[in-house]
Amino acid sequence: MARDIADRQTDALAEREKLAADIPANLLAAYDRLRDQLGGVGAAALHHKRCGGCQLEVGAADLARMRAAPRDEVLRCEECNRILVRTSESGMAKA
Ligand SMILES: [Zn+2]
Repeated sequence: MARDIADRQTDALAEREKLAADIPANLLAAYDRLRDQLGGVGAAALHHKRCGGCQLEVGAADLARMRAAPRDEVLRCEECNRILVRTSESGMAKA
């Protein structure tokens, strides 16, 4: 069992390294800093207008600004400062 967990951790770290190679250095540094500050979670999905990190709902004005932001702009939660990841269920679709 412990062996299994160690194997999976090794796999996960290898996978992380592979993915991290494609992320701009400044964004990766910001993520690592947030992760250290915020209990190990530096980024969260924006799900049904709610930050998956702090669970607070994004206000209408912030949501409108996020909706208008370019697709490659890094969004941040106004409450906890985590990086917000857009998904098809973010609740940002134009009504
Ligand atoms: Zn948040």
